[in-house]
Amino acid sequence: MGAVGYRHRVRRLVREKQELEAKVDERTAEVVLQKDELSKANEALNRLIIQLEEKSRQFEESKVKAEQASEAKGEFLANMSHEIRTPMNAIIGMTGLALDTELTAEQRRYLNTVKTSADSLLTIINGVLDFSKIEAGKLDLHPLAFRLRESLGGMLKTLALRAHKKRLELAYHVLDSVPDFLIGDAGRLRQIILNLVGNAVKFTDRGEIMVRVEPDWKTAEEVCLHFAVSDTGIGIPDEKQRAIFEAFEQGDGSTTRRYGGTGLGLAISSKLVELMGGRIRVDSKVGRGSTFHFTARFRRQAKPSARPGLTPPPGLRDLRVLVADDSQSTRRIIVDMLRAWHMQPFEVESGRAALDALDRADPDGLRIRIVLVDAQMPGMDGFAVAEQVNRRPEPRPSTIMMLASAGELRDAARCRELGVAAHLIKPVTHSQLLDAITKVLGLSGAEAAAEGLGAVRLLPRPKRPLHVLVAEDNAVNQELVVHLLKRRGHTTTVVSSGRDALARLEQEKFDVVLMDVQMPEMDGFQVTAAVRERERTAGRHIPIVAMTASAMKGDRERCLEAGMDRYISKPIHAAHLLQALEGLVTGPNGEDGREDAEPDDTIDRKALVTRVDGDLELLRRMADPFIADCPRRLGVIKVAIARQDCSTLERAAHFLKGSVGNFCAPAVFEAALRLERMARNGDLSGAEEAAARLEDGIERLRRALLALLDASGVRA
Ligand code: ADP
Repeated sequence: MGAVGYRHRVRRLVREKQELEAKVDERTAEVVLQKDELSKANEALNRLIIQLEEKSRQFEESKVKAEQASEAKGEFLANMSHEIRTPMNAIIGMTGLALDTELTAEQRRYLNTVKTSADSLLTIINGVLDFSKIEAGKLDLHPLAFRLRESLGGMLKTLALRAHKKRLELAYHVLDSVPDFLIGDAGRLRQIILNLVGNAVKFTDRGEIMVRVEPDWKTAEEVCLHFAVSDTGIGIPDEKQRAIFEAFEQGDGSTTRRYGGTGLGLAISSKLVELMGGRIRVDSKVGRGSTFHFTARFRRQAKPSARPGLTPPPGLRDLRVLVADDSQSTRRIIVDMLRAWHMQPFEVESGRAALDALDRADPDGLRIRIVLVDAQMPGMDGFAVAEQVNRRPEPRPSTIMMLASAGELRDAARCRELGVAAHLIKPVTHSQLLDAITKVLGLSGAEAAAEGLGAVRLLPRPKRPLHVLVAEDNAVNQELVVHLLKRRGHTTTVVSSGRDALARLEQEKFDVVLMDVQMPEMDGFQVTAAVRERERTAGRHIPIVAMTASAMKGDRERCLEAGMDRYISKPIHAAHLLQALEGLVTGPNGEDGREDAEPDDTIDRKALVTRVDGDLELLRRMADPFIADCPRRLGVIKVAIARQDCSTLERAAHFLKGSVGNFCAPAVFEAALRLERMARNGDLSGAEEAAARLEDGIERLRRALLALLDASGVRA
């Protein structure tokens, strides 16, 4: 290669080098750029991470705040429940006291209505609490034995006053094919019915409200009932029909202003219906009315045939009754009831038609024995009918019974003036109508006698008078408790604060302390702690019964853990209070050797009737939950024996023994005691046989109780 060739090559190499260098520079610039971008991205990422951390911190903070708020809400609910329950306590307690005094049947009826209404108000208050429980998923059902027809009648009674004030007809009809003896949460059913019927009354200005119950399906053990509550009110627009079942939803703003309400009722009802294994829905047309349908499942009471429905005295058969009411539904219901008792009803729809029917019937010698007449009918009302009937010549005119509306006090007086034999408030329940008819016909003196016995007389006479320290800061409650205890022959010392309670306990000897949990300065828990601390050295144990107005779960446990011996919740029920106090002091339940017991009889009837002071209604209220609860307790006992679990067995047997102790059944009591002792001694040989004997005893006790209640005609 010559010199030219070299130069040429060198130049090319130099050019190539320069090109390469330019490329490298370019790449380097790119890399620098990329590096720059990367670091920017990195920075952004860091900022993002910081932001995320901040957000997560904020989230944590708000979560804690939400938890605190929820706790505060729970506390608020508990306090509110306490505040509202205190005056309720006074209303219910004082009504109870008034009911326990000498009263005319009429006064008793009015006061009973006050009492039922107060009870239902309490149900509403509990409803508000329920809603929060529902939200927290903490609402449980408490199934107990109940009788559908009478319960339903009772539920509707509380709304009768409101319905009748608006001159609305309120009626209910339970088809014959619906079983009466059920096990379910009657309290929650009542809540649903009160909500639906309450709404029906609220949103209806004229016409009638009807509750119908029919079976949806049934098996030997279970039944699903279909309830329909219809009204002839304002109706609900199609587009709103779904929303009203949501919480705080109302048909429309203007109705809210006009009718009031919270929009909570249906939300709670639909939740309760769901818990009862059913569904709720509404059929409605604006301006025509609404029908709310819901279903609910109930267990059927075992062997209900052992406890037949209402048994009318034989004297009623074929008696002719004239039913005069302008409401077709009411007529139909009453006629159905009368037919079921084998009476002969005739129905007419006006006062004039009633008089005509009497004219037609009498000359034939087919005397109408009873005229059941509605007080408020257009044209000729019930009173005018009564007047006309009274003017008739002999033979003696038929007996007149008036179907009146709640709240019409004048009606009662007018009925008396006109010699009307009975004055029934609508809607009339089966038992009320039957009682009234048997009474006016003089067929049964037992009911009348039972009525005079008073409502709240209780349990065994106390063995000895007790000296009770009452620590309670509410003056009304003080009065109520002192009054109740005094009437039972006990003496009391009252203090209004925890501090005074402690001081008194130093100075005076008491048999038992009744202590409000929520007191100013030093609350019931603190007082109990101080008392128990003192006792550790002194060696004595004074029984303390806690009273609390708070309805929140876990209170019972808290009281017992704090060293209190019993717990009762407010509003105070005389029976519970006395049972708790006297039961604690007079020794283990029922271990008081009843000398006059008849050994071959399961229950000592005489002793038992004396024990409830002749108040068989009270006995029924004691018996129903006992009967419903027994199978479960016996189940626990069997499982405990199979597992050789002495402590569970001891507790279960002890509990059953306590319950049995209320019913004067010495042999059954003995059987439970035997099991309890075996468990306590840790020797379970023969436990199975003892359990079988107990089960057998309890079955006999169950039958004996039902027979006693049936024979005395006490109904739910
Ligand atoms: P409230 O306490 O407002 O009555 P509910 O949840 O019981 O709450 O009812 C929600 C709404 O549903 C009511 O405000 C009303 O607009 C409508 N509603 C319920 N029942 C009826 C009825 N029988 N007739 C007409 N509207 C009704």
